[in-house]
Amino acid sequence: MGRDLRELEKLEKKFNRKQKPNIAVNIQSKIISTGLFIISLFIKIIEIIISIIFVIFAVVVHFALLIRKIFTGKPILARKLIFGKKAIPTQIAYFNLKNQLLRNLALFYYVILGKLSLTGIGIREYNAEKRIIGDSYAYSQKPGIFNLWYIRESSRTGYEGKLDTDLEYIYTRGYLKDFLLILKTLPAMVYNSKKDSYPSKINMFGIKLLNKRMREAITLIERLVKYSRQEKIFFVNPDCLNKIFKDKTYYRILKETEYIFPDGIGINIAAKMLNNPLLENLNGTDMLPYLCENAVKNRFRIFLLGAQPGVAEKAKANLIKKFNGLQISGTQHGYFGKEEEQKVIEKINKSKTDILLVALGVPKQEKWICGNLSKLQVKVAMGVGGLFDFYSGKIKRAPRWMREVGLEWLYRVLQEPKRMWRRYIIGNPLFLLRVIKWKMAKQNIGEL
Ligand code: UDP
Repeated sequence: MGRDLRELEKLEKKFNRKQKPNIAVNIQSKIISTGLFIISLFIKIIEIIISIIFVIFAVVVHFALLIRKIFTGKPILARKLIFGKKAIPTQIAYFNLKNQLLRNLALFYYVILGKLSLTGIGIREYNAEKRIIGDSYAYSQKPGIFNLWYIRESSRTGYEGKLDTDLEYIYTRGYLKDFLLILKTLPAMVYNSKKDSYPSKINMFGIKLLNKRMREAITLIERLVKYSRQEKIFFVNPDCLNKIFKDKTYYRILKETEYIFPDGIGINIAAKMLNNPLLENLNGTDMLPYLCENAVKNRFRIFLLGAQPGVAEKAKANLIKKFNGLQISGTQHGYFGKEEEQKVIEKINKSKTDILLVALGVPKQEKWICGNLSKLQVKVAMGVGGLFDFYSGKIKRAPRWMREVGLEWLYRVLQEPKRMWRRYIIGNPLFLLRVIKWKMAKQNIGEL
């Protein structure tokens, strides 16, 4: 018994020693927490200053609208019922103006009134948007003027949908993130364009781009695989549309192709300039995960053709790891000669493929697909450019925030300046100039 007690005492002493405060650690953690407090205070002050600046602008616009009301009788505000905090119906008002930026200025009043916050979840109209099961947590939060959904919708990259975007915001929010959110909203305002109705196709230089959401595009591909005889699908970005001015065959191919997806922020801006905004940016890199998910569900088999030796295999390994049950029916590098073409076609045909992804670069892949489609036993053939380079890890993709602010192209230029500067630094403005010219020509003959 005595021994037990002594042991117990020893243990207690040991425990107490451990409990003694470690002064060094304590000071360190105090410094860190004070530092964090100062940073958050600093950010909060910046946010308050931002709100005040916007409210001052709002007051100026309000005054101008008051004068307009006196002369024209037009109401100053347009009211809307939204889901406020805890999903309570809340009345807010925008300025009765067409310009989105000026319209939204009125919302800053509600930050001061406490109905909205500066940063938060997306704003939802009360009657327009149905609530879905599982969204209560997102709805319990206060909506914010600056929100991730607005940014993703503006850059046309909100593929996850509004609810998932809001949840992502809620789970990752922080003072610094909120501040960056405000910064990211500024370029988003440039890209933002909303309309009551969207055309199903957008005509650019006589080429008709499909205007769909990512989910709809995937459903379309599923339908084509299941029910069509055989189809081809291409993506176009500003660089592709610059190439049509030099390459007549490529131009003809695109003009005759029914399924063309718009890819890249440049096409976004062009569509906005043509008063036909895009619903979503449908680039191959963002599309592949959804395509793979769908392929697993439908047991579609996918063949990867193109890129340098070893790249398609690496992409295959990565995709299979990520998508359980995905069937990649085969791979083939894209540097084969004309004499090997027949062999490649036989390899694809033997593999019993539903979807053939062809990554030979633009416009080689489009020409190759058109020239060989009738010999290929596949349901859908898609031209996918540098897709395998990204999925094999050979080339890194721009971080999400860069894509959200429309700077993916800059990332590509920095990665491969020699090859890419002409394509983007010269190509992007040239493309937009051509769109302006084309728009004016169309307006002159009364087609726009
Ligand atoms: N490629 C190929 N065979 C060729 C030329 C190119 O397989 O004869 C591949 C190249 O390795 C790369 C892809 O095609 O993986 C095209 O990449 P790029 O970045 O040029 O894409 P694009 O801008 O054409 O969409």
